[in-house]
Amino acid sequence: MTGDTLFGKIIRREIPADIVYEDDDVLAFRDIAPQAPVHVLFIPKNVHIPTLDDLRPNDAGLVGKLVLAAAEYARREGFAQDGYRVVMNCRDDAGQTVFHIHLHLLAGAQLGHFGTPR
Ligand code: 5GP
Repeated sequence: MTGDTLFGKIIRREIPADIVYEDDDVLAFRDIAPQAPVHVLFIPKNVHIPTLDDLRPNDAGLVGKLVLAAAEYARREGFAQDGYRVVMNCRDDAGQTVFHIHLHLLAGAQLGHFGTPR
């Protein structure tokens, strides 16, 4: 149910992670290679959905929960007013490396441009 990916192993506590947020549906932990002073990954913790392309209409609530969890975390940590960015990568051209959908929350500095070709 949680799948055979790195993030499935983190959900099952088979490998360690710096967990910063958890509720019934969502787990969040610090990215191991942060791209900003704050870089947290928000993932569904009860289902394994490999990519955004695998989402179906009845997953809308789950995706909303990822976004709302990130927004709540930003308020709780005190950087919501300064601002932040959320990013979800889908497959090769976006650089997706872990095939368990996840939302990146980036904050803590003025963020540079994004979306330029590699
Ligand atoms: P993607 O590139 O798939 O959108 O994002 C995957 C993210 O997972 C990357 O930002 C990468 O740094 C992060 N990551 C890879 N391995 C680990 C790990 O073992 N622990 C944690 N916390 N993050 C990881």
